[in-house]
Amino acid sequence: MTPFRTLYIDMNSFFASVEQQVEPSLRGRPLAITAVSAESGAVVAASYEAKARGIGVGTRIFEARQLCPGIVFRPSRHRLYVRVNQKIAKVLDEIGELERIRSIDEFQVALGGMTSELDNAMALARQMKAAIRDKVGSELRCSIGIGPNHLLAKIAGKLEKPDGLQWLAPENMPDRIAHLELEDLPGISHGIRHRLRQAMIWDVRALYKLDPRHARQIWHSVEGERFVRALQGENIPLQDTQRSGYGQSKVLAPKYRPPARAMLVGRWLTEKAAERMRRDAYCTRRFGLQVRFLPRGGWSGSQTLTASQDTQMLLGIYQGLWRKMMRSRPQMISSLSIHMGNVQPLSQRSGELFLPLEAAKQTRNERLSSVVDQINRRYKTRVVKFGVNQEHFGFFENG
Ligand SMILES: [Mg+2]
Repeated sequence: MTPFRTLYIDMNSFFASVEQQVEPSLRGRPLAITAVSAESGAVVAASYEAKARGIGVGTRIFEARQLCPGIVFRPSRHRLYVRVNQKIAKVLDEIGELERIRSIDEFQVALGGMTSELDNAMALARQMKAAIRDKVGSELRCSIGIGPNHLLAKIAGKLEKPDGLQWLAPENMPDRIAHLELEDLPGISHGIRHRLRQAMIWDVRALYKLDPRHARQIWHSVEGERFVRALQGENIPLQDTQRSGYGQSKVLAPKYRPPARAMLVGRWLTEKAAERMRRDAYCTRRFGLQVRFLPRGGWSGSQTLTASQDTQMLLGIYQGLWRKMMRSRPQMISSLSIHMGNVQPLSQRSGELFLPLEAAKQTRNERLSSVVDQINRRYKTRVVKFGVNQEHFGFFENG
């Protein structure tokens, strides 16, 4: 049988389960989590009990009351969810090889050796479910998917909720997912679905049979080829962030919208993205900033640089771009994103004659940045910062 390489864990109703964990009187009750700054007045997460009554992400608060008169509302507490996320990560890492934390409630574990066999992978998954319940919280459930690559593991994880455990491999594909719509698959955007239709690809079966080279044409990108090959079960490692760079974006809560405060959130995003890039041992050669204004308009710009992973230098570039952006005189900033593109592995960076740069080695400042990363990782929070910044744990799309 095809060897399994990835185990994907998706926490079910994560925010609501965490609230039920810390506040036992909420257990077994319909519960909806709302954004702290609830201008939109919508639900950001719902407990299983609330979902059973038709309440989900995006349900308006007044609708939720109509659907379920006894429903309880609680404000979203991101710091709490981040802490639980880190506890889960620690528990998973003790049992298996935690490869990546994919989001606030999704984790990717590497399989190999014994666990590349289905029975052993399933046993590991059950062990992980039990460990999360025993060591993190009795109310926490997750759906686990197993696959020969990240894509199939992720799709498998979405097949059964809550508390699911499913696998996908060429042995049960595409039958096992033939009932899904194209846009149910992660990575099939509206635009891609439209192009697939134009190419007479109407359903999952047809997509599965597609020649990967043809997919490349439909996507206008090598990503299409990678997607179809992954769907067909090939060992396609996840490289998207490494290829397209490191980005961070944030929709700002009202109190961070004045430009002077938004600027600090951008510094924080820059630090975070640079840290992830160093962890993967990459450098960037292009730094981009994109800003949206309120009530309308926006700005974007970028700067090319010698391959670097030095937070101080990147923050300097960020500030320069920010000053340029401010010439547009924005009143309020509604969202901002930074992007470190044109990335290159540190191991491939050549020395530069006019810079004190040794080939494939970190500079003094980059080493300093890495030391800061180590300290922050040890204390699980940003105890050391590069000057002022503003943390802003925004709203994740799902919980
Ligand atoms: Mg989830």
